[in-house]
Amino acid sequence: MVRQTARRFVDDRVLPVIRDAYNSGTFPKHLIPEMAELGFFGANLEGYGCAGMNNIEYGLIMQEIERGDSGLRSFVSVQGALAMYPIYTFGSEEQKQHWLPKLQSGEAIGCFGLTEPGFGSNPSGMRATAEKRGDTWVLNGEKTWITNGSIADFAIVWARAPEGIRGFLVERGTPGYSTSDIHGKLSMRASVTSSLHLADCAVPEKNQLPCAKGLKAALSCLSQARFGIGWGVLGAAMDCYETARSYSLARKQFDNRPLASHQLVQEKLAWMITEITKAQLLALQVAKLKDAGNVEAAHISMLKRNNVAIAVECARLSRDLLGANGIMDEYPIMRHMCNLETVKTYEGTEHIHTLVIGERVTGIPAYR
Ligand SMILES: Cc1cc2nc3c(=O)[nH]c(=O)nc-3n(C[C@H](O)[C@H](O)[C@H](O)COP(=O)(O)OP(=O)(O)OC[C@H]3O[C@@H](n4cnc5c(N)ncnc54)[C@H](O)[C@@H]3O)c2cc1C
Repeated sequence: MVRQTARRFVDDRVLPVIRDAYNSGTFPKHLIPEMAELGFFGANLEGYGCAGMNNIEYGLIMQEIERGDSGLRSFVSVQGALAMYPIYTFGSEEQKQHWLPKLQSGEAIGCFGLTEPGFGSNPSGMRATAEKRGDTWVLNGEKTWITNGSIADFAIVWARAPEGIRGFLVERGTPGYSTSDIHGKLSMRASVTSSLHLADCAVPEKNQLPCAKGLKAALSCLSQARFGIGWGVLGAAMDCYETARSYSLARKQFDNRPLASHQLVQEKLAWMITEITKAQLLALQVAKLKDAGNVEAAHISMLKRNNVAIAVECARLSRDLLGANGIMDEYPIMRHMCNLETVKTYEGTEHIHTLVIGERVTGIPAYR
């Protein structure tokens, strides 16, 4: 029922507008209240107005939304896993009561500022600082590539305090806090991506996330988001597969036979449906482990790394099967393909997830 509801929403509300939104580089903001109404934001959290779904239901929502567009799924991931989850897990009761119902209902939007211009794959090197002066924290630094940055009511900002990395809730309008959008993206065009600037930005003590201690707190939020990505990319892959399957049945070449009657074409379709099915089984198993409280970071790395890779390949194979038409925006393939290049990079690149798995099986960290 959850999958069908999300699927219907994507068919009825997303597909009719997504091509124009992508081409014009705009995020379809009008969909926020509708997604909130359907319980998409923080769907796997309990209480504070959240839907309290299990991780399989949550994953299926991500899958369906990304069948529409990775940019829209990015919005939902950031809102739930990177804005609501840190408050839910590391916030004070006052912060939870104040923000979670508003974020769930889409009345407020959040973003997550970890990446810096000089520190992407290695956020432990971050330069942003937090210095305590009386009962305020003074933040300085620069965050970049931040999804939802300029449309967010607050940013969860990670900065280096004398006692280690800490998380802060920086509200829009705080003096010294400003945002600017990144233009020129040829991927994730239907998603807002921004830089956050912090210049002697005074954040009240009550806006520090009291239980977020060290980089591992930030990384635990990323685990939540990566889990959703592992499911989400399957939606993009399914859309590419289905587009290629129906196109190859309709299009005729050589003796008026459908493309689908040729063995080489069938081999590509067979590869896609097999890899998508295997990837769904991996997603299902990781969701079961997560629901049982037994999931490890390396399981999520395996899920994100594998499923993004097969989605990228499905997009390429599908583009190939559509021939020249495959490059047109009349079909969703190039949009998915371009989006998936971002998905391969953000939330831990393919290399980084390879190293996480490598460390888990050898005991040897090979990042440096
Ligand atoms: C559209 C978009 C939205 C994003 N949204 C957010 C957001 O909301 N919040 C946020 O904080 N960040 C966000 N990011 C940033 C994203 O997480 C980073 O881009 C990512 O972590 C990679 O960092 P980088 O781009 O600096 O690449 P780099 O770290 O410079 O990596 C470049 C290449 O070097 C490789 N590499 C780096 N180190 C190693 C190593 N030790 N071994 C082998 N290979 C290595 C990488 O795998 C990659 O192939 C977003 C990015 C994009 C594109």
